Amino acid sequence: MSGGDMAKPLLGHRNMEGDPGITPAAGRTIGVLGSGDFARSLAIRLVCSGFKVVVGSRNPKRKASLFPSAAEVTFQAEAVKKTDVIFVAVFREHYSTLCDLADVLAGKILVDVSNNIEINHHKESNAEYLASLFPACTVVKGFNVVSAWTLQSGARDGNKQVLICSNNQEAKRTVAEIAQVMGFTPVDMGCMSSACEIENIPLRLLPAWKIPIFLALGLFLCFFTYNLVRQVIHPYIREQKNKFYKIPVEVVNTTLPCVAYVMLSLVYLPGVLAACSQLYYGTKYRRFPDWLDQWLQHRKQIGLLSFFCAALHAVYSLCLPMRRSHRYQLIETAVKQAVEKKMNIWVEEEVWRMEIYISVGIIALGLLSLLAITSLPSIANSLNWREFSFIQSTLGFIALVISTLHTLTYGWSRAFDENQYKFYLPPTYTLTLLVPCTVILAKVIFNLPCIQQRLLRIRRGWEKGRYVKFVLPSATGEYSSGETSSNV
Ligand code: NAP
Repeated sequence: MSGGDMAKPLLGHRNMEGDPGITPAAGRTIGVLGSGDFARSLAIRLVCSGFKVVVGSRNPKRKASLFPSAAEVTFQAEAVKKTDVIFVAVFREHYSTLCDLADVLAGKILVDVSNNIEINHHKESNAEYLASLFPACTVVKGFNVVSAWTLQSGARDGNKQVLICSNNQEAKRTVAEIAQVMGFTPVDMGCMSSACEIENIPLRLLPAWKIPIFLALGLFLCFFTYNLVRQVIHPYIREQKNKFYKIPVEVVNTTLPCVAYVMLSLVYLPGVLAACSQLYYGTKYRRFPDWLDQWLQHRKQIGLLSFFCAALHAVYSLCLPMRRSHRYQLIETAVKQAVEKKMNIWVEEEVWRMEIYISVGIIALGLLSLLAITSLPSIANSLNWREFSFIQSTLGFIALVISTLHTLTYGWSRAFDENQYKFYLPPTYTLTLLVPCTVILAKVIFNLPCIQQRLLRIRRGWEKGRYVKFVLPSATGEYSSGETSSNV
């Protein structure tokens, strides 16, 4: 379906006769069995899209007032007699109560819109079950991925795709046309065996986020334990100091930036590995291993989680001075200095370190916000490929470099201070630098002209060891052709 089609307004009360843009589906009578939330929203949308709607209810008198006046609400048997296409907006458990209608339904198209309450709840899909109850009908699975709310609010505010499957091509085409006229994008999912998959889609909980969330939680757990040992357990064991109050804020706040920083580098690491693979094999046509493919596909979610942790770190950092423990420590230090009669406590190097540390931190968070915003489909769709690639690739890499500066100014000379090695464990920031610095170094190497040229050629389709046709002008001005190795 073209972008132009998607931009079309809902047909509303327009007269559709003679409109070349309207498919033959518009204007026909559509039946809806059931008078619940979905049936009502469906009827409203169908009426607004120019269809005649007849609703079949067990109790039409009571339900008629819930439907738009343009829709006819009648008994089930009456409704199905008036149309060839019937949406079954009834739960699977009640399908068998429709068996009395088998004779009037024979030869008609039944659209199964039902969902289950859990994934793979029944052995056979609801659509296959409906087909088994009504063998004389043609069943099409569809519309279950759109909610009653989406149907009412219009295609622009909700999910636009309607996944459709059926064993009958003609019936599938009819339902696809209806979906298109309603402002949805029909997606052909093949034959009825796909119904189970389609029914599971609305029940999946953030499938694209599972791996990135587990990754973030895993990193958080590792860094949290490491920081806990260094900041709380070590002083407790070595100096019998009770620092457990640090767990809710300080330990969490030193863990969050570690996760954010490493996650940001993990957005760019698969790109580096992919480039290494392309350079090694001298082609872009070789499939990446599955794990790398998966990793590349999850970069957006990993980046958004990195931004989430960085934003939390910023909020935690702003709240640090609010803590009672902080105030006590400040007063304690001031009293100590007064007792020791220390007047000048200004350390120029520390002042500069903090100023730079905070400034680069704010810039890094600003860039991460930009990356997060531009990854939203509505914003991403308004950018051309070059703009999107500049923001996500170039500015993203700059964000990684600035985050590295933020980390280095935080750590400063701590890596060289032996007192910082608690239980021989190096300061946490040194560990976080490993992956990001590898990525930055690799990116620098890939930007060396000799490597960049080769990578560019590979990405334009050049292959190592492949023979290509060449055309050369001869001395007489005519062109002669031949073959050579593209390796040469
Ligand atoms: P609902 O509000 O409970 O409506 C179900 C309707 O089924 C009732 O209003 C009833 O209408 C009819 N029905 C027919 N025979 C029945 C019987 N023996 N016992 C009880 N009711 C009977 O449910 P709904 O939310 O509209 O959902 C309807 C179907 O759409 C379900 O299969 C659901 O999975 C699917 N769906 C719903 C949504 C959503 O957002 N709600 C989204 C996607 C798919 P009469 O009393 O007029 O006969």
